[in-house]
Parts: sequence; C-alpha cells; structure tokens
Amino acid sequence: MDAPIVSVSGIRGIVGKSLDAAMLTQFASAFGTMVNTSTCQQDNEMGNGPVPSKTVVVGRDSRVSGEMARHSILAGLISTGCRVIDIGMCPTPTILMIANELKANGSVAITASHNPAEWNGLEFALESGRLLNQGEREQFMEIYRSGDFHLAKWDHQGAVETYQGAVNRHIEKILSCEWIDLELVHERALRIAIDCGNGAGSIASPQLLRRLGCQVVEVNCVPDGNFPRSAEPTPDALDRLCKTVRAEGADVGFAHDGDADRLVVVSEDGSPLSSEYTFALAADFILNKRSGDVVSTVSTSLMIDDIANQHHAQVHRTPVGVGFVVEKMRETNAVIGGEGTGGVVFPEIQYTTDGLASIAAIVHHLSESNTRISSLVKSVPSYTMCQKKLDSPSQSVSEATVQRAAEIYAEKGQLATEDNVSLDLTDGVKRVWEDSWVNIRKSGTEPVIRIFSEAKTTDRAEALCNETVETLKRLMTHEG
Ligand code: MG
Repeated sequence: MDAPIVSVSGIRGIVGKSLDAAMLTQFASAFGTMVNTSTCQQDNEMGNGPVPSKTVVVGRDSRVSGEMARHSILAGLISTGCRVIDIGMCPTPTILMIANELKANGSVAITASHNPAEWNGLEFALESGRLLNQGEREQFMEIYRSGDFHLAKWDHQGAVETYQGAVNRHIEKILSCEWIDLELVHERALRIAIDCGNGAGSIASPQLLRRLGCQVVEVNCVPDGNFPRSAEPTPDALDRLCKTVRAEGADVGFAHDGDADRLVVVSEDGSPLSSEYTFALAADFILNKRSGDVVSTVSTSLMIDDIANQHHAQVHRTPVGVGFVVEKMRETNAVIGGEGTGGVVFPEIQYTTDGLASIAAIVHHLSESNTRISSLVKSVPSYTMCQKKLDSPSQSVSEATVQRAAEIYAEKGQLATEDNVSLDLTDGVKRVWEDSWVNIRKSGTEPVIRIFSEAKTTDRAEALCNETVETLKRLMTHEG
C-alpha cells in the first residue's frame, strides 16, 4: 500500500492503492486520542467529576467508497470512547456547521473534495468546527505514526447516534442570516441551472435554491458518487451545464466541487466564469451591506483589491489554504474572506468555505441589482491569470530553488534594478507590481514548483510566468 497524501487539507488517497479501511480506522483512532487528550475549555469546566466522553460529528460526501470509509471511521472513534454523531451524506460545510451548533469537540469530514471518484480522504476539525492549525496537524500525525492510541476499556467504548436533518439545519441557518431578504428573491424568481456533479451538494443545493424562490433546473444532482464530470468544476468540465443554461434560458448556472464547499458560476449566455469571480462577486455583495476588512490568499485575483478599493475596505493576504484565511478573518474581524478556487467564507454564517452560502449571496446580488450576471461581471475590472508547473527532482530541490529565488529577488529589489516591484514572502515568493504579480510556490504533495501570474493582458501574464520558469530552471540546474 502506498502512503496517502498528507497536506493542509487533511488526508487523501486512492482507495485500495493508498487508502484502505485499516488505515482509515487508525486515522480515526489517532483523532479520537487527540480529541480525548486535548485540553480545551470544556475540560476545565468539568472540575473533578467524571470525565464525559468527547463528541465528534462525522459526515461524508457522495463517493462510492463513502460507506466503507464511514464504518472505518466510526470504529476508530468509538474504540477511543468518543460519542459519535453521524449526520450522513452532506456537504462538508454542513458537517462543520453542525459541529459548531452542537458544540462538538471535533468533526471528521469523509471527503476528497475535488479529487477524482477513486479518491477519498479525511478533513479534521476541533472545537466546534475549527480546522486544525499547523501545530495540531503535526501533533495528529505524530499520534498516528506512533500508533499509541488511548483505546477505551471494553466497558467504556463510545457509541454512535444518528442525526437527521443536518442539511435542513444548514439551510435554515443560511436563510436566517441578516442579509437574506426572502421576499425580494422570491419576487425575482430567478431561473437557475445547478450542476452538483453527483457530489455532496446534490440534495442540499437544489433544496436551498427552491427555498430562495428560484426555478431550479438540476444537472448531475444524483448523489451516487459516479462523477459524470471532473469533481473540480473547471470551465472545461461544465459543458453540460453551459448547454443547459442556454437551452433552458436560465439566468445563471452554478456548479459545485465534490463536497460543495466551492461554487463556480456560469453566465446567462452559457459561458463559464473563472472560479475567481465567485469570491469577487460575493465580496462586492457583502461590502455593499457591511463595512470591514477582507481576507484572501496570495494567489487570489487582484479583482478583490479593486472591489475592496471601491468600498474603501482593506485586504489582508494569507498563505494558500482556508485554515489560514479563517484564522486571519477571526483576528481582523473581517466581513468576508475567500480563495480564487471558488471557496468563500461568510462569518455571519460560519467560519469555513460554504458553497451553499455562496449560492445565497450570488442569488441575492443578482436579485437586488436587477441586472444580468454578465453585467455584474463587466462591472468588475478584469485580469488574466497564467499557471505553470515545473517538475523538480525532489521536494528538497524544490525548496532550495524557491529559497534561492527569494534571495535573488530580494537582492534585485535592494539594487533597485526593477522599479515598482515589491516582494511578498507570505507563501513562497511573490513579486507584485501595481496591476500584476507572479507567485512561486513549492507543492506540498508532489515534487513540483507551481508558478502563478496575473496581469491586465494575457501577453503580460504569460511573459511573467515564462520568464519566472526560465529563472527557476537556471537556479535548479545550479542548485541541483
Ligand atoms: Mg471542496
């Protein structure tokens, strides 16, 4: 058996190749051990009385291997004495929201997000739906590798309770948000095509849209885990949705990734928008209603800066990963945060990327502005992005190369050989000009260096990417 991939997003592997039932049970026992030994607030309040069992919420996406994974996870958790609340098949943001509502000590989402159908994985959260931070991720992997689990005695095994209606609870939570105006959206009664890719949003999102008074056209909304398109809703994968939008005369098309924490948008003419627009449009909507800061990652489009400027809001940039975005949002009390992948965080609903909340925001934005989605898109200054990846002999060569690039760009900056460029080392190396940037990052999961750039024109974006790849190749030869 190969090793699964361990990253900021949790554990992911191909079932039968790098992930199996025994491994999943061990991960769950490691997590149960961590939850039982963590010294969170609830423990301190208990004084010297009997130690109550810790509560862990478990849910899964629609993958074919989901049931196998679910049983493995339940076994691992109850063997460490946890009280498990099983909420069944639902979007990942629903799991975190229920963990928060129930004040659970932890949660496990059984999902491989946007990876292909043969994959599965685990995303862990502590304390009412807070994703693990770096220190906690390391601690968790240490417990897993040591195999030193706090297994409960034969008469102290945990138990599993079933929780019905998690999706309804999530929808109610969204609808009770202050910026929701049901009368307004019902009046507009938008016609919306939604493509859930047969993933975890297949039941929840059409249901939410109907509650918002929309006429719903369902595409790939059978949650059987047979993905008819890529679980990552890239423009190429959305052919059927785009055609449906045109054929049905829909006002807008929506598509989720496999676990429905992300959303992408298709314009009324059937053209798919870059996933960067989800956050941009949602931020424009929220900043119309709330004043406060915005949080995004270093590789998210400059559109967010333009929108924030229009609303006199400040943008904070974090390393890539929703955990970093959420941490910064809490710190700055930001009113919205998100990533260019189509994941948006609405703190009034919950502190995680929520594809359902994104639907609600964009439906409102469109209803309120009483215009077409293409007009909303045109009102946002546009950019072009370019992405390349450079293969590297090993992770350590990638690291050394990125490190050397940082030093070289810093020296250049000091010599002022290039004007108006600043260096940002938040995540990898990012060079920033007034209306363009290029970011170099070492992949956490494979021996490659990723290069991302953005500029006003395709030529400039590609030139920045190509020139950076050439520099890295030269550095790699010298370093290698
Ligand atoms: Mg996802």
